[in-house]
Amino acid sequence: MPLPWLEPLYQRLAQSYSQQRFHHAQLFNGDIGVGKRELVDMLADALLCSNAHNLIACGKCKSCQLNRANTHPDKRVVKAEGQTIGVDEVREITDFINHSSAQNGNKVVVLEHSHKMTTAAANALLKTLEEPSLNRYLLLTCEQLALLPATILSRCAVHEVKVNPSLAKKWLGEFNIPHYSWLELFVEQPMLIEHWYNEKQLDSIDSLYKFATELKDSDNFSALVEILSKDSTLINVFVLFLTEHLKEKLVLGMDFFSYQKAQQAIAEFLYNSSHVLGLNMSLAISKLAFSLRESQN
Ligand SMILES: [Zn+2]
Repeated sequence: MPLPWLEPLYQRLAQSYSQQRFHHAQLFNGDIGVGKRELVDMLADALLCSNAHNLIACGKCKSCQLNRANTHPDKRVVKAEGQTIGVDEVREITDFINHSSAQNGNKVVVLEHSHKMTTAAANALLKTLEEPSLNRYLLLTCEQLALLPATILSRCAVHEVKVNPSLAKKWLGEFNIPHYSWLELFVEQPMLIEHWYNEKQLDSIDSLYKFATELKDSDNFSALVEILSKDSTLINVFVLFLTEHLKEKLVLGMDFFSYQKAQQAIAEFLYNSSHVLGLNMSLAISKLAFSLRESQN
């Protein structure tokens, strides 16, 4: 079954499939951690299954076995390993689509992080989208619709993937996740929480939260630097904590000019950490702490 908050969307997709209105290119847009990957994986399995019911794979046929082993010759997954998805990766997709299927059925391409396609890659993909072929499906995920050209969007069925917080909370309740006050900030990204839980990262993130609230008063950042250097995706989390803490201070009476200055320092830190190659994290954090101190004196 799909994740609980994805059920209405999944039912709509299943209905369109049974009525033969299922678009050959489906684009799923939404924040990190809403369950886009789980959704497209489930769809891909169903499209390849020889005995699917209501667009749910049977789990038993040859195709399902191949999918479970991640070795289905009629499925291709492309995702951004680095910052971008280039034209060569998209050409591979086109080649794959153009060849006949191994199992004499559907062929499915999953293209994750499609917002990371370069302009050349997007142009190459456009050709495939313009000339749809029978039994070929393209499932795209995207985190920022605005980064994709309108020409691509107009050739896909675009879906917003949203999380119902109460369903997500109920679903997360099945895990034994310890309580942290900041978890509330991520309740609409339940797969992110699940990922941190599985990877045993919740304690590190709790430390990030504490660092964010005490940053301007501390001078030893080595533990913080270690956490951020190990997993750069946590920089965004740290920045979110800093921003939330600042908002709280504004409510508690911080003057707006200081607020703006502090916010600027945080924005600069975020920009540098994603744009400066070989950034000295220790130095960047010291600088940020200094700016926060300055702005609040
Ligand atoms: Zn099956």
